[in-house]
Amino acid sequence: MTPITFKELRGPILIVAPHPDDDVLSSGGVIQKAVQTGKPVHIVYLTNGDANTDSIRNFLHAPFIPASFRRLGRIRHLEALRAAAFLGVSSKRLYFFGFPDAHSLPIAKSTNENQVFRSPVTLWDRARYSFSFHRNAPYTRKTAISLFTEILKKVKPKTIIVNRADDTNPDHRAARIFLMDALRRTRMKPLILSYLIHFPKWPSFKGAFVPPVRLNTRNVRALSISALKQRKNLQAFRLHRSQFHAHDRLLRLIRRKEIFWLG
Ligand SMILES: [Zn+2]
Repeated sequence: MTPITFKELRGPILIVAPHPDDDVLSSGGVIQKAVQTGKPVHIVYLTNGDANTDSIRNFLHAPFIPASFRRLGRIRHLEALRAAAFLGVSSKRLYFFGFPDAHSLPIAKSTNENQVFRSPVTLWDRARYSFSFHRNAPYTRKTAISLFTEILKKVKPKTIIVNRADDTNPDHRAARIFLMDALRRTRMKPLILSYLIHFPKWPSFKGAFVPPVRLNTRNVRALSISALKQRKNLQAFRLHRSQFHAHDRLLRLIRRKEIFWLG
């Protein structure tokens, strides 16, 4: 795999995380290097991961009612704050859009940009969390794109880290659609680095840490991370305590190399 050096990632850097923890899993090393070198790094969280029934059952031990899902969203917000603070990112550079977890893809694919969607778990049709970037922003495609546009204008990123379009998680696909639609409305031409979290046989359970065969293309880049930074990333991920059940698979993503695709 072709290496990429951190110097090639010009600042400011914007990381798009569909859920709290995708930032650490995809680019915790980038975050640490940015903090260390004084390169500004900003993180957008599309959802608060509030529809995770495994967390409701095994972490909150709560019934599947709207109050439980909303509570999980608030907890995951705090976990994201703690993990980012642990890696050295100020809460002023974190933006929580509060869009509906597990249900953002229909919004991204809607042919009517003003159609309002409702989360079937929180029963909210707008970003009701008090810490939302724009509180009460309705769940529409138009709103999501304008939130991303606002962030792009505010941050003026030279590098954007966002998940691949073919990630199998629907919120991951939605986040990319919203970001790219917003980017097209600007004249910005940042370096786009794409990461992968959910995909068949990824990350591999044994052997070398290489991308899935059909994604092992010429535009793959690997950013090397020190053992110390890798350990810190593992500690940061563990601060997402509500996600303990996911550790086995996802922890394998936290390696000495962070893998990105150009574009
Ligand atoms: Zn995710």
